[in-house]
Amino acid sequence: MEYIKQLDVIGEYDIVIAGGGPGGIGAAISAADMGMKVLIIERAGVVGGNITIGHVSPLMGRYIPNTMADYIIRYLSDDNKPDCNAEEAKIRLTALLDEKGIDVYLNTSLCDVIRADNKIKSIVISTQSGLKAVNGKVFIDGTGDGVLSYLAGEKTEYGREDGLVQPMSIMFTIGGIAPDQKLTCYHEEDETPLKKGGYLQMCRDACKNGELPPEVNIIRLYPGQNSDERVVNATQTNGYNPLELSEYNKAQVALRRQMKMVVDFLKNNVEGFENVFIKDSSDIVGVRESRRVMGQYVLDADSLIDGRPFEDVIVHKADFPIDIHNPAGAGQAESETLPVSTQKYDIPYRCIVPLVNENLFLSGRCISGTHRAHASYRVMNIVLNVAEAAGIAAALCIKNGETNKTLGYKEVQKVLNEKGIELF
Ligand SMILES: Cc1cc2nc3c(=O)[nH]c(=O)nc-3n(C[C@H](O)[C@H](O)[C@H](O)COP(=O)(O)OP(=O)(O)OC[C@H]3O[C@@H](n4cnc5c(N)ncnc54)[C@H](O)[C@@H]3O)c2cc1C
Repeated sequence: MEYIKQLDVIGEYDIVIAGGGPGGIGAAISAADMGMKVLIIERAGVVGGNITIGHVSPLMGRYIPNTMADYIIRYLSDDNKPDCNAEEAKIRLTALLDEKGIDVYLNTSLCDVIRADNKIKSIVISTQSGLKAVNGKVFIDGTGDGVLSYLAGEKTEYGREDGLVQPMSIMFTIGGIAPDQKLTCYHEEDETPLKKGGYLQMCRDACKNGELPPEVNIIRLYPGQNSDERVVNATQTNGYNPLELSEYNKAQVALRRQMKMVVDFLKNNVEGFENVFIKDSSDIVGVRESRRVMGQYVLDADSLIDGRPFEDVIVHKADFPIDIHNPAGAGQAESETLPVSTQKYDIPYRCIVPLVNENLFLSGRCISGTHRAHASYRVMNIVLNVAEAAGIAAALCIKNGETNKTLGYKEVQKVLNEKGIELF
């Protein structure tokens, strides 16, 4: 493309990471700790991805000592709990990346790539001064949506067989809950009795009688930063494609309307919630699922359910159910109540190595797996640990003069081992 020849190159880095969410920052930190010059490109005005702009909390998935998730939880929380506050996280993650010497371009979108001989040479970014280019030796896709991989010609898949993906949602926090009301609800499991009956049944009845939108089903209430707060995971829209601009905004319109209905329902029905109000909400429409980039190995749900070990393991004993928010309606896709359980499982190195480009790694929720497996490994503790390995692998490629395909997975395992991370 002709325009590319005229672009100013405004940066030269060892490792360029597209996306500053958990998949991007985990990789950036582990690579910077290995002496790499690292740049994160982030389209939002702050780093953190779903932790900050998405107001998603808590960081879910099993806690594994000495890992990146362990490190980030300690860094974000004063009491080592995985519940994080988006505002505090904005301050702390910004400071952390700065202390690590990681450069960050904010309000900057990745919009094209320049490639030669199965390698990415540069990425094209959209800035307030027009399109610019940044050169890198190794690139990491932490965009969630697999944007870098898609632009670089990698094979991607979308959703399940019928073309549907998990619903989009807007997370928000409510305040003003009475101190003696302890109600929380993580999945579809909390049967806290209230004056009007069981909480879950109340939610389901309200979905039937129109007090709540039918897709909402259960209003999940996670602990907030303060005892009078809950993080609300309830709104959802089905059938919209998060990668289609007009559909994404339609989802936003529907979800902001749902937020009001959810709050009115809680006020009118749950004792102690009479004075609740929306304290803050996600700045974006939260996307659970979009592109999955195909790699050297495609992790499937059976491997998770059986806890299958892999010789090239880079994340060991990951643990989270196959939590498929129903793409076609309310509740879970595969069960009336709780999501399908897994054993503690391994994620292999080959899942972060894409098929085509030799200097590209996958990180975050876009790594190589099936729709069902993704519904488990997409949670943020697991994402952070995958990211850690992606950053190490990228740094090793530069140090050892290797590509993603020639780099021995044992080299990555060696560095993880040196950090005290259990792999076998
Ligand atoms: C509503 C909702 C509720 C959830 N609940 C939980 C929960 O309770 N606990 C849990 O652990 N997980 C939860 N998850 C899942 C989890 O938040 C995500 O799977 C995880 O954040 C994925 O990390 P990521 O870094 O891949 O993507 P993201 O967190 O989405 O980060 C991607 C980053 O890339 C940036 N980006 C995208 N495209 C570009 C581009 N072209 N150029 C530059 N930057 C770009 C984005 O702005 C973003 O900052 C939830 C997700 C959603 C949507």
